Amino acid sequence: MYQPAEDRYQKMTYNRVGRSGLKLPAISLGLWNNFGEPDSFENQRHMLQRAFDLGITHFDLANNYGPPAGSAEENFGRILQKDFAGYRDELVISTKAGFHMWDGPYGDWGSKKYLVSSLDQSLSRMGLDYVDIFYHHRPDSETPLEETMATLDLLVKQGKALYVGISNYNADETEKAVEILKEQKTPFIIHQASYSMLNRWIEDGLTDVLEDAGAGAIAFVPLAQGLLTNKYTGGIPRDSRAAKSHIPFLNEKDISEDVLNRVIQLNEMARLRDQSLAQMALAWVLRQGVVSSALIGASRVSQIEENVKALDRLDFTPEELAKIESILTN
Ligand code: NDP
Repeated sequence: MYQPAEDRYQKMTYNRVGRSGLKLPAISLGLWNNFGEPDSFENQRHMLQRAFDLGITHFDLANNYGPPAGSAEENFGRILQKDFAGYRDELVISTKAGFHMWDGPYGDWGSKKYLVSSLDQSLSRMGLDYVDIFYHHRPDSETPLEETMATLDLLVKQGKALYVGISNYNADETEKAVEILKEQKTPFIIHQASYSMLNRWIEDGLTDVLEDAGAGAIAFVPLAQGLLTNKYTGGIPRDSRAAKSHIPFLNEKDISEDVLNRVIQLNEMARLRDQSLAQMALAWVLRQGVVSSALIGASRVSQIEENVKALDRLDFTPEELAKIESILTN
């Protein structure tokens, strides 16, 4: 019987999301990979338990996480029931819809038809009455934005989601979505965007839009799927994401010599800061006030433990920031 650690709220930092009432842990855990059918259920349980023990109160899912699509929500639902039954009110659970989920014209993109059914399916897979955050997962150029945003508003009014967010929308699309939601008086509070030392697109307009809107960001893939750790500097370990054939998102070709050279230099900098590279990469993502949380993934408990320790040293000197800038841009 799992008993959460009594000191679980003592070490984690909780950041307010924009100007909303919601706070998120500085480090959140996503279930995109390692929570599907091929993955050990016991390992999944241990990771969620340890994360919660360390103060990680936010778990991020999507309809299509697995493989197969839907299985991460199913596994998460089973773990919630087994281990977290008395703790629903201490958790912020998010899910999304926007990518292909089922065949035919109603299982993808951003129509009301798709989003309403998808959230119902997600709730049933997880055994929940509501999620804390529901995201539209990616912009849909064919469905009117008004329809997609009106659906987010509807889901909040129905009590199936407490807050809504968007993901992968660029700055212009975000600005338009914010305007529509404002008219509907639905709290748009959060943008889930990719952001890391190796992927800085949000700095080019999106963060300004979010700050103006009083919204926050949660940064996904902050470790560039593991590239921003020291794991690939000596080759591709057999148990790493890049080596797993059922995970198509990171391949040998993504681990270029150019990236490895920068990673080696960053690793040395992290060492001088008494941190691992993963910890420095997470601290760097969190240096932007608008980023409320770094949304990590993990394949084992030790990674979660290491990553949460990023909070021991979040500050950077101007010299350190300049040095990182030069490693990333030269
Ligand atoms: P990360 O960049 O944090 O990569 C996580 C992977 O890096 C782990 O699975 C592990 O890989 C490796 N890793 C993590 N910590 C360490 C460590 N300390 N030392 C060595 N290796 C480490 O993020 P993810 O790519 O997993 O994405 C995180 C979350 O973001 C997802 O679960 C999802 O919730 C969200 N997301 C959202 C998207 C969207 O469109 N909205 C798209 C993609 C992700 P290994 O398996 O090799 O051990």
